[in-house]
Amino acid sequence: MSQSATDGWRPLEETVPLEVFKAEVHAWAKRIGVEYGTLTVRPMKHKWASCSSKGNLTFSTELLSQPADFRARTVVHELVHLRVPNHGKLFNALVKSYLSGEGQ
Ligand SMILES: [Zn+2]
Repeated sequence: MSQSATDGWRPLEETVPLEVFKAEVHAWAKRIGVEYGTLTVRPMKHKWASCSSKGNLTFSTELLSQPADFRARTVVHELVHLRVPNHGKLFNALVKSYLSGEGQ
């Protein structure tokens, strides 16, 4: 019954472990057909995620304690940026199609 030692407070039971989150990102990248550089999860003050022009991804630590559908939306958003660098019509169409195709 003892709590295992973790160096972070976990307020919600739906918080996913870092490794699970990384596996999610990997699975989405495969589905979308993109390759990213590094994958970093760290505290971010003003946003949930970002991607560099080199394809390196950074996600906020807080994303790990967000609902699964919100996590998916954030991950897909960044990964689609590796194909479409703007927020135009094509970008929105791709994001929508990947998210609505989930579970098929
Ligand atoms: Zn964006």
